[in-house]
Amino acid sequence: MSEKPIGITVKKKENFSEWFTQVLIKADLIDQRYNVQGFIVHKPWAMRIIKQIYKLFEEELEKTGHEPVLFPLVIPEENFEKEKEHVEGFKPEVFWVTEAGEEKLERRLALRPTSETAFYQMYSLWINSWRDLPLKLYQSVSVYRYEKNTRPFIRGREFLWIEAHNAFKNHDEVLKQIREDMENTTKIVWEQLAIPFLFLRRPKWDKFAGAVDTYAADTLMPDGRVLQISSTHDLGQNFSKAFEVTYVDKEGERHYVWQTCYGPGIWRIVAALISIHGDDKGLVLPFSVAPIQVIIIPIYYDESEKQVVMKKCEEIYEFLRKKKIRVKIDTREKTPGWKFNDWELKGVPIRIEIGKKEVQQGYITIYRRDLRKRQKVDADLEKIYSFIIKLAEDMLETLKKKSKEYFESHIVFAKNKNEIMDALKRRCLIKMPFCGEEGCAMDMKEKTDGLKVRGTSIDGEDKVENLKCAWCNKPAKKIVYVAKAY
Ligand SMILES: [Zn+2]
Repeated sequence: MSEKPIGITVKKKENFSEWFTQVLIKADLIDQRYNVQGFIVHKPWAMRIIKQIYKLFEEELEKTGHEPVLFPLVIPEENFEKEKEHVEGFKPEVFWVTEAGEEKLERRLALRPTSETAFYQMYSLWINSWRDLPLKLYQSVSVYRYEKNTRPFIRGREFLWIEAHNAFKNHDEVLKQIREDMENTTKIVWEQLAIPFLFLRRPKWDKFAGAVDTYAADTLMPDGRVLQISSTHDLGQNFSKAFEVTYVDKEGERHYVWQTCYGPGIWRIVAALISIHGDDKGLVLPFSVAPIQVIIIPIYYDESEKQVVMKKCEEIYEFLRKKKIRVKIDTREKTPGWKFNDWELKGVPIRIEIGKKEVQQGYITIYRRDLRKRQKVDADLEKIYSFIIKLAEDMLETLKKKSKEYFESHIVFAKNKNEIMDALKRRCLIKMPFCGEEGCAMDMKEKTDGLKVRGTSIDGEDKVENLKCAWCNKPAKKIVYVAKAY
């Protein structure tokens, strides 16, 4: 029998970092005691959430013409060396396999930090004609990076994501794919998980190693730092030239393909889900990804009550289960109050409480996790079901409204250094006129302990006439978003 759960002992608003750590442990998401730094054990509650998120993305990717593959975990060093910028960008983070059994390997093998150099080796064999294009493949895997500072779901030496690698005939198709990736991200991360974010085009000095351009989705965490939750890289022909990925067009001419890669960070999305929706009682999960959507708590004080109450609980359980609701009856030998706390910590969206009084009077009590409110509902099975479906929709809308209000009220425009520093204190994402120079961005980063230019809005650039760079006061060339980042 497990110990009495101790609730979260800090307020999210007052000490976000400690709150986050406590939720990870107390909601039983992970165990950090595995004896290699940066490698965590994902426990069942986390894995079930993660599987739901994977499912949402995989379905959307397949709807838009992608097919699943699984590439080897190891990448030979010679593949790595082929694209110069890429290797320079990633080399400091690579884990290498250098020995096997008693022998030293002739060539080192990298544990994939990302898989461009694995995929495109094969693309050069698979793509030959215009008929082979577009090629759209993805894999759901973990990747490995030698990170110095690690944090569960935010930065790890092993973390979970999806990577989609696409090849096209021309750059127009690349731009269309970037839009499609954004739409897919929006459909899932915003529409189903209620996590708000901005799509930004990264400045040239902060793009993915080997890419022509990087487009990324940044969300805002409660401590005022942004978290990148997905990105699409316009690879241009950089990798196709390095890997000789070519096709022959209808006229018989040979060309290099144009490529994109898209990476929704499953880990990062979990971090955002925990941080943005969670409250001082623990997790608050959207109905769509909750491992248990409805938890039924029987309340009884003796054997005869138990029989009556359990009968009702089982009837409701069976009915909801047949309707494909992820439902469970909590029959643990614990008090109802203990169970309430436990499921609140774990973020189960809907709780049904059934006691003797409820059975006798023909109703049930429904508790919604997001607003922490109770309501009586007629015990008719169809009515319970339709109430739950409606409530699930309402909860999603409520989460969206709340997260959007917070997000929008925490994006502020700053015209000068004072306003920048003030916005930082208020944990805001800063929008400001910017001169466009890398040197200015570096100066700001240094003097603010990490404030970074995250990029420009992808939905058309804002007007900057007569504006001065908020940091250096030179004439502004663009409006950028600026924040500290994870
Ligand atoms: Zn400047």
